[in-house]
Parts: sequence; structure tokens; C-alpha cells
Amino acid sequence: MSNLDLEQLREKVDAVNLQILSLINERASIVQDIGQLKEKQGMEKFDPMRERHMLDLLKENNSGPLDQKTVDHIFKEIFKSALDMQEEDHRKALLVSRKKKAEDTIITINGEKIGEGGPSFIFGPCAVESQEQVSKVAEAIGGKGLRMIRGGAYKPRTSPYDFQGLGLDGLKMLKKAADENNLAVVSEIVTPHHLEAALDYVDVVQVGARNMQNFELLKAVGSINKPVLLKRGLSATIDEFINAAEYIIANGNSQIILCERGIRTYEKATRNTLDISAVPILKQETHLPVFVDVTHSTGRRDLLLPTAKAAIAIGADGVMAEVHPDPAVALSDAQQQMSIPQFDEYYDALMKFMKQYELKA
Ligand code: PEP
Ligand code: MN
Repeated sequence: MSNLDLEQLREKVDAVNLQILSLINERASIVQDIGQLKEKQGMEKFDPMRERHMLDLLKENNSGPLDQKTVDHIFKEIFKSALDMQEEDHRKALLVSRKKKAEDTIITINGEKIGEGGPSFIFGPCAVESQEQVSKVAEAIGGKGLRMIRGGAYKPRTSPYDFQGLGLDGLKMLKKAADENNLAVVSEIVTPHHLEAALDYVDVVQVGARNMQNFELLKAVGSINKPVLLKRGLSATIDEFINAAEYIIANGNSQIILCERGIRTYEKATRNTLDISAVPILKQETHLPVFVDVTHSTGRRDLLLPTAKAAIAIGADGVMAEVHPDPAVALSDAQQQMSIPQFDEYYDALMKFMKQYELKA
């Protein structure tokens, strides 16, 4: 074969490549239209029967020289890429997505604007245990000019024999302590049944990690007019987390704060593995503020400060950590709560860190 023949054949291959490119793009745009139709009709994107039909049709018409296995392989890749593209389009269309709303969502709680730039803080005990206990913590928080206190009254415990929380009485105690120190109340609600009564005492409804995919609860908090702090599920992917937030916004409530709180991995050195890169991913993918719970992610008091620094440095809108007047006798999470003197030191260290690196307070 002369060099000229080779050149001519290569030119032909280039031309065919361009034809294939144009045809697979034409195919992709038809599939996009199909995806939109299916979306409108609430139909499943992947249809195995349809895929089988397309492969059969190709088989009937394959006159070679490519064997059928190769043709199947090539076309399955083409089918898959079209499906991936439909899913990508779907994700971009979510109400919580940046694509849908480019500006950051800013949520005002007790005069504090969350998501505006500098970090906010949510401190407080794991669980409300007594009036005296929450009042002591509220004074320490309020004394720093902070605006929110947390405390669980309905505790989702692993064992049914562990302390389950004080329920509505606990919320009343927390609200009293909060009012006396100009604080907003952040507290977890575990079932839609408790929601209405709790709203008299709670300013921010927390949906805990174990309930991230409790879809009835998500729908219920989606129809209230108060901010929701949604925690990432124990084993939830970022995509599942974003879709959980979508349940809330789809029901009308856009005041959502996402909270990364560590995920289950094989690592045992910490209680969970803090997925710090989830913060910038969630900030890129959604317009919602993102918090990091350093207590439940690490389960270690010695890691509360370095992980909070990491959270602030990576762009989190806030940090959550637990504080108890006497952690050694706490009825839950005794391992990792800070005492009040430890909390004072912790907060000072964080402020110093932010000043040192000129981070917006
Ligand atoms: C909590 O914040 O009180 C709590 C139980 O956290 P999580 O749902 O993240 O485990
Ligand atoms: Mn706790």
C-alpha cells in the first residue's frame, strides 16, 4: 500500500469519525427530549425492555464486519451515556441546586444571618436533662453574644434502654433558658406527630442523621415556616443528602441548613469519618448554608478544635458542638461534650484562629 493510499484511508476514517460524532450527538439530543417527556409523566428513565428492543434491532441489521458482542458493547456505552446525561439534567433541575438559584440562601435566625459569609455557631448539650443544666449552658453561650442554643428533647438512641429525652417538658426548659439569654432554640424532632406542639418552643427544627430519609418527616418540616437543620444520614451519599433537602424545599420550605456530621466508614479512630470535602461540594451543588457538626462526626473531645478550624477554613457557614456543665455525668454523649471552661477556651481559640488567618467572623 502506498503512502498516498494510507493518507486517503485516514482521511476517510476522520470523515466517518465526524459523522459518528454528529450522529451520536443527534441521538443524545433526541434522548434529552425523551428524558424531559418522561420527567413530565413521572416515568422511570431506565427501561430495560426498550434497551433489549434496541439491541435486538441492531442484531437483526448487523452485516459486519464487527461481531455482535462488539456492537452490543459499543451501543450499551452509548445508551449508558445518554442515561447519565438525563440524570445529570435532573440533578441540575433540583430546587436546591445552584443551577436553579445561583445566589446563596441566607437564613436569618434571631438576628443572625446564616450563610452570609462568616461562620455561625450552634452550641449546647446533647440532651436537655434539667432546667439547671440548660440554663448554665445558655448563660455561657449568651455571654459570648451568640444567638443559638441546641439541646435534644427527643433523643434517637441506638438502645431503647438508654435515656430517650424529656420530650415536651425538655423543650419548655430549653426555651426558658434560651429566652433568658436571648437565644434561639435548635432541637431535633423525630416524628411529624410532635411537630405542631414543638413549634411553640423550637425556632430551628433539626432533622437528625437517622431520620434523613424519613420522607414523611421531611414533607412535614417542608410545610412549616421555620428553618430546618438537616443532618446527613449515617451512610448517606451526598446525592441522597441533597435529595433529602429537595423533599423539604419541594414542600415549600426553602429555609434549610445542611449539616455534615460524619459518615460510617471502616475507620474506628473516630466515631464517624468527617467528610470535610462534602462542605465545598454541597456549596457548589446547592445554594444552601452548610454546617459541620464536629461532636458527632469525631466523637472525640480532642478533635473538636482542629475539625472546627478545618470546617471554617474550607468554607462552612457554621459549626455545631456540644457543651455540658458536667460532661462526665451526661445522660448521652458523655465522651465528647465540652465542659463550660473547655468551651470558653475552645471558643477563644477559634476566634484567635479566625483573626490569625483573617477569616471573616
Ligand atoms: C444530635 O445532634 O443530637 C444528634 C443526635 O446528631 P446526629 O443526628 O447527627 O447523630
Ligand atoms: Mn449528642
